[in-house]
Order: sequence, then structure tokens, then C-alpha cells
Amino acid sequence: MNIHEYQAKSVLKQYGVSVPDGTVAFTVEEAVKAAEVFGGRAVVKAQIHAGGRGKAGGVKLARSMDEVRAHAQEILGKTLVTHQTGPEGKVVKRLLIEALTDIKKEYYIGVVVDRATSRVVLMGSEEGGMEIEEVAAHSPEKIFRQVVDPAVGLRPFQARALAYAMNIPTDLISKAAEFMLSLYQAFVDKDCSIAEINPLVVTGDGNVMALDAKLNFDSNALYRHKDILQLRDLNEEDDREIEASKYDLSYISLAGNIGCMVNGAGLAMATMDTIKYFGGSPANFLDVGGGATEEKVTAAFKIILSDPGVKGILVNIFGGIMKCDVIANGVIAAARQIGLDRPLVVRLEGTNVELGKKLLAESGLAISSADSLAEAAQKIIQLVQ
Ligand code: GDP
Ligand code: MN
Repeated sequence: MNIHEYQAKSVLKQYGVSVPDGTVAFTVEEAVKAAEVFGGRAVVKAQIHAGGRGKAGGVKLARSMDEVRAHAQEILGKTLVTHQTGPEGKVVKRLLIEALTDIKKEYYIGVVVDRATSRVVLMGSEEGGMEIEEVAAHSPEKIFRQVVDPAVGLRPFQARALAYAMNIPTDLISKAAEFMLSLYQAFVDKDCSIAEINPLVVTGDGNVMALDAKLNFDSNALYRHKDILQLRDLNEEDDREIEASKYDLSYISLAGNIGCMVNGAGLAMATMDTIKYFGGSPANFLDVGGGATEEKVTAAFKIILSDPGVKGILVNIFGGIMKCDVIANGVIAAARQIGLDRPLVVRLEGTNVELGKKLLAESGLAISSADSLAEAAQKIIQLVQ
């Protein structure tokens, strides 16, 4: 789960991470009011769940109350298109009004769970402010890492070593190390999957501060972080993913054109891999679960079909606990109810498979049946072309 920058900063502040003073604003009037304490010398920042706002005109500096008002009017309600929003962009509904910071230099700090080492890794670079992916591609030698041993956590010497490697001014090494230790503590305590500060800045008056903050949380751990769950902004989430969560369906939107309905996460992954292998592109990951009812199958179908990018559907079900005839009835009922207007390929295997196939064949609906996953994938790819 993702949260907004202003929320991330407030979480980090509880851990002693230094951030500029600021207030969230939902209207222009609120923005103007929030800037009064700064005498109009404020940054007006779009709050959306995506980075790259600076380049897209979503971060503006103001030096007077009039400028604050003008920037707030311009940014609120605007659709920001950044390299992380996709071409459709995101509508700005909240602003962060923050005190202007006297930036001396921008750096990058990130905490991630690294798959290669299976550990938390702290990454730092003196190439801050820009996209870290660019730095990784063009000057990877400028990104430094410290791997954290989970038994002892991030050690102060590691934080100092990273600060030195990043060329933080010598007199600010201790402050930077403290910053990193606090950031790491927040990451661990809150079960984050990403904590990224870009830019981390050294200020004219000798401070080390987070000018931007991105926190991502492990959804599987949210049950023990009610405070974080409250920060969820459904406006920023995919409508289909929200709908799927109501039915306890594991659904993730993707960019392809073949909608997938599968039972079991492993089989769902294998289905997506197979579609890719034969040159197709999945529109979603969807695990309907082991005990899918007709109601659940119908809901899943509706969600898949509500994606205008879906040009065809592949249903791949293994009837273990679940019987193939129940699935077939669910698929038929859903197809009838929704009025299926796109090609559908169904591959069933397992308990009562013969009965399931018979039901599909006799349904009178335009459903293609397949015996193997490979055959099913090839069929649907051909149908969507
Ligand atoms: P992002 O583009 O979505 O990552 O948004 P950021 O919060 O990182 O802001 C983009 C850029 O705006 C930063 O890299 C800074 O250069 C600039 N910026 C943000 N806040 C301030 C500020 O208080 N003072 C100054 N001078 N620049 C700022
Ligand atoms: Mn940033």
C-alpha cells in the first residue's frame, strides 16, 4: 500500500527524521491559510501517488501569498502526467504546503528489501533529485549500498560509511547517519517494502532533511498497522482492485489485453507466464481462490470486463477442492448475466472435468474450450489479434 508524501513525512517525523514544516490542503483557501505561517514563502506540492511531479509542474515555489494562491489554483484539480502515472495521469486533490528550504545539495537515500541478498539494503547516492533509475543506468558506480544483518539491524558505522561514500560534508556525517538510522527504524517498525527519500538535502544552515518521502507498505502486514491503514486513499487506487478486494479476490491490473481468471496464485502466475511465452500480454493477475462460488466468479468476470483494455478472456481452473462443473456453471451464469462481448477460452482440469466441459459446450455461448494451458494460451492470443 502506498501513502501520500505528507503522510509519509508525518510517519517519519515520529521517528526523528527531519522534514520541513508543512500542512496538507484540500482547497485553495486552505492552501493560502497554511502558507500564512511561512509569510507566503512556501512550496506548493501536488499530492498524488506518483513521483516525477517536479518535472510535470506539480511542485512550485512561492515567495508571496499571491504566488501561493496562484500555484494552488493551478495545481489543484489539474491532471498531472508523470513518468509514473501512465498516459492518463492523475488528478490532484490534495496539496502539501511546506516551508521553503534553502537547498545546498540534493542526495538520494532508499531502503528496500533486496531479493538477491534476502535482506534490507540501504542505498545512497550523491546524484539526488533526479530519477534514480537514470543514475543506475548511466553511472551505477555512484550508488552505494549497505546490507543490513537482521539480527543486529543497521549499525551506526554502516550509516556513517554510506554517508562518507555519498560525499556528505564531513561536519554533517553524524547528522546524516542519524537520519539513516531513524529512517531504517521507521522502515522496520512499519513493515515497509520501500522507503525512499529523493531528494535528501543538506541545507544552507547545516541541516540534513527529507525534502520528498515515499513509503510503501507490505500489504500482508497491514493488519498490525491500523494507523497506516487509516492513511489509505482510495482515490489513488485502481477501481477494479478496490472492487476485487470487496470480494476477497486477489486482483492486480496490468497493461496487456488478455484478461485472466485463475484459481491459485501459482497457477495464475504460470498462466501469465504461458501467455507471455506465446507472445501475448496479460491484462491482469487474478486469483479467485480455492473456494470460489458462482457469485465470486461473476464478480471476477465483471471486474475483468470493466477493463476496456481487455480484448479476450482466458479462464484456467484446476478443480481440486472445487469441482469443474461448479466453475462451468459460474462462468456460464456470469457470461449470460453480463452479456459477454469478447472471446472467451476456458481450460478446465480436475474433478468433474467431463461434466464441466459438457456444460460449456451445451451452453450455447461462444466459449472455446481447451485441453491444455498451452493450447488455451495460443487460442486466446489468436482470438484477440
Ligand atoms: P518529485 O518530482 O515528485 O520527486 O517531487 P520532489 O518532492 O522530489 O520535488 C522535486 C524537486 O523540487 C526537488 O528535487 C527540489 O529540487 C525541488 N523542491 C522541492 N521542495 C523545495 C524547496 O523547499 N525548496 C527548493 N528550492 N526546491 C524544492
Ligand atoms: Mn522526489
